Amino acid sequence: MTDFHEKKVMVLGGSRGIGAAIVRRFAKDGAKVTFTYAGSKDAADALAAETGAEAVKSDAGDRSQTIATVKAAGALDVLVVNAGTLVLGDPLETDPDAVDRMIDINVRAPYHASVEAARQMPEGGRIIIIGSVNGDRMPFAGGAAYALTKSAVQGMARGLARDFGPRNITVNVIQPGPIDTDMNPADGPMKDTMHGFMALKRHGRPEEISGLAAYLAGPEGGFITGAMHTIDGGMGA
Ligand code: NDP
Repeated sequence: MTDFHEKKVMVLGGSRGIGAAIVRRFAKDGAKVTFTYAGSKDAADALAAETGAEAVKSDAGDRSQTIATVKAAGALDVLVVNAGTLVLGDPLETDPDAVDRMIDINVRAPYHASVEAARQMPEGGRIIIIGSVNGDRMPFAGGAAYALTKSAVQGMARGLARDFGPRNITVNVIQPGPIDTDMNPADGPMKDTMHGFMALKRHGRPEEISGLAAYLAGPEGGFITGAMHTIDGGMGA
């Protein structure tokens, strides 16, 4: 446990999966947590009731909404950008609008949210973006556009770490491998393919990601910035 009392945390995309685990972890550790959701109102309401966090409807695919939501949150000690979507398939057959919407959510939103948060963030603030091991490796066909988005946040984090470093604000990327969520269920059709690439033959749990988010946001994580942190059961090993 890390003590986050008095700390203000915002999780973009917190209603389900990895984001919900991050909300739970920061709330349990005493933070005042706000999280966003786009479509899953029931899940968001249930999580808010469970944790005491505040749920705000805000579409990460809409730049104005994202910037306004982060601005309205005021001076955040920690911003976690988790909202993400996955579009897989033959690039020759994939709807280009779906690809562009994924780029809006997975790339543009982390950039604009991070910049907006930094405007009001106090000295020592922390920005954490949830990328993917697919930012480093794309070991199967059909994932080019998703990999594009997760590689993009690597460069973004390196650059923003330089921009905000003089204010002791850190910027890091957590890169999960297969994690058991609605996006990638442990019993889904890709399970055997994915486990074939991994040293540990299982999906990870969302709580195995939220622990690192707490570490990076806590006092022991203060010297870590501009870095990619892979938690992938050895998929990229
Ligand atoms: P889920 O699909 O289980 O959950 C996605 C979360 O993001 C939901 O809370 C969803 O909210 C929110 N979200 C999606 N689109 C938007 C949007 N436009 N605006 C606001 N919120 C949005 O995904 P995971 O938990 O699995 O994934 C979370 C992150 O981790 C993503 O960035 C994903 O790319 C990354 N990741 C996941 C891996 C995995 O194996 N699960 C592996 C590597 C990376 P709502 O339902 O309310 O719209």
